[in-house]
Amino acid sequence: MLIGVLALQGGFAAHAKMLLELAADVREVRVPADLEGLDGLVIPGGESTTMTLGIEREGLGEPLRSFAKPVFGTCAGLIMLDREHLGMMDIEARRNAFGRQVRSFEADLEIEGLDGPPLRAVFIRAPWIAAHGEDVQIVAEVDGHAVAAQQGDVLAVAFHPELGSDTRLHERFLAICRGTAVAVDLADDPGWVAP
Ligand code: GLN
Repeated sequence: MLIGVLALQGGFAAHAKMLLELAADVREVRVPADLEGLDGLVIPGGESTTMTLGIEREGLGEPLRSFAKPVFGTCAGLIMLDREHLGMMDIEARRNAFGRQVRSFEADLEIEGLDGPPLRAVFIRAPWIAAHGEDVQIVAEVDGHAVAAQQGDVLAVAFHPELGSDTRLHERFLAICRGTAVAVDLADDPGWVAP
């Protein structure tokens, strides 16, 4: 598996490290040519306005929109996927939805389709998903607000799964890239096939 990590700005290094630990090959993506031959792409957290400017500057908008492989967006990466930005997922993200700096927090999340104990999730000036289309499956919530979703082979979470040592969401993304993940809304037992 060769996984790209959008490396214009933000928390790309921790994603790359976690993917390498899971035995994926990683390529930092900075220009359109870097997207060629990838099996999947991670869009990390950071600052969505800065990331948008970087995408425009590098001419990455159209190549990203037409990227046909699985994508995993985290925090600002979730914002980049929404209708107002790259439009790669039928969601509307609300920026800084939990409030600004003061509302950075951790929560134990039950994520649909993820085996084992709740995932300790780190939220940093996080968005939530304020609206979504019917093809979007919401797989985790905090206080009734959607914070993780999947639409086909696109996965988005409002928090930072690359921080800490719980690799289950990256494993799930790699399973999607390999084509061995069971779609969450199709499985009787909402499980997924481990790599
Ligand atoms: N608040 C940031 C934004 O709106 C996202 C924060 C993050 O990625 N940790 O872009």
